[in-house]
Amino acid sequence: MKVLVTRTLPGKALDRLKEEGLEVLVHEGLFLPREELLRKVEGAFGLIPTVEDRIDAEVMDRAGPSLKVIACYSVGVDHVDLKAARKRGIRVTHTPDVLTEATADLTFALLLAVARRVVEGVDYARRGRWRAWHPELLLGLDLQGLTLGIVGMGRIGQAVAQRAEAFGLRIAYTSKEAKPLPYPFLPLEDLIREADILSLHTPLTPETHRLMNRRRLFSMKKGAILLNTARGALVDTEALVGALRGHLFGAGLDVTDPEPLPPGHPLYALPNAVITPHIGSAGVRTRARMAEVAVENLLAVLKGEEPPNPVA
Ligand code: NAP
Repeated sequence: MKVLVTRTLPGKALDRLKEEGLEVLVHEGLFLPREELLRKVEGAFGLIPTVEDRIDAEVMDRAGPSLKVIACYSVGVDHVDLKAARKRGIRVTHTPDVLTEATADLTFALLLAVARRVVEGVDYARRGRWRAWHPELLLGLDLQGLTLGIVGMGRIGQAVAQRAEAFGLRIAYTSKEAKPLPYPFLPLEDLIREADILSLHTPLTPETHRLMNRRRLFSMKKGAILLNTARGALVDTEALVGALRGHLFGAGLDVTDPEPLPPGHPLYALPNAVITPHIGSAGVRTRARMAEVAVENLLAVLKGEEPPNPVA
């Protein structure tokens, strides 16, 4: 039985699949063109895709009735057509928890980079412009006492809140429902108006698509910061470019729409936009652990057991 793994994965987790007698086909390129995905998936029992592979009904049908499990190498599953999977009796699993801390760390890295203009500073020094210390050089925002608004108080949202406490930030949040947490729960519109820093941590769903539209971006406080380490399509990119030209202090984005953000995109020209290439979970240990979790889920389905991290 064949398992298609759409990228090389860190660590040794895939060896376990081979030990179980599975044929493991690993695609070794930087990305997997659609036609090649469709060809390689034919006859597969299992599929381990990354966030960049769109796994829709066409892919499932090309795999054929042998396909029993899609073990996502991510916690977000917006790239998989869950309805189509359910209809075909294909289990879909993901990798929650193991990437929570790494993604919260990266969120904080972006927050500090934007607030304290770290990237501008590095650039300034590298270009040989650093000639003197000056009281007004590259002034940024003092974090202590500012309000961090968390949109989506799940695993990552809560891990970001923990870090924020150590920095003396006030925390408020919105989520589908209030939680037994020591922070005020606010309706989304109130949170947007009150936050000095707004950080997005919801999954991408039809409900959250373009959650941060033009109106909401401009109803953020003047001089506020937007952070997005969830999914690019939560934000209207064109409106964000406008908001960054005078309304917002800056934005830290690990995810964009479109993604990858093409060379020459207007966002790259804005000094107050700090953009990383979707590396939220990119810790050596985290990425190896994600591979182990994907493999555990796949093997559970192989053995006819309930997988530990099902989404469908
Ligand atoms: P999670 O534990 O499921 O948390 C998501 C939270 O969003 C939940 O608390 C949920 O509320 C809330 N939510 C859902 N729909 C909402 C809505 N319409 N309005 C307000 N809140 C809503 O997921 P997680 O593990 O923290 O991951 C969150 C997302 O981060 C993932 O889906 C993924 O897309 C993204 N991510 C990105 C990276 C990266 O590399 N940049 C890495 C990991 C994850 P309730 O709890 O009330 O249901």
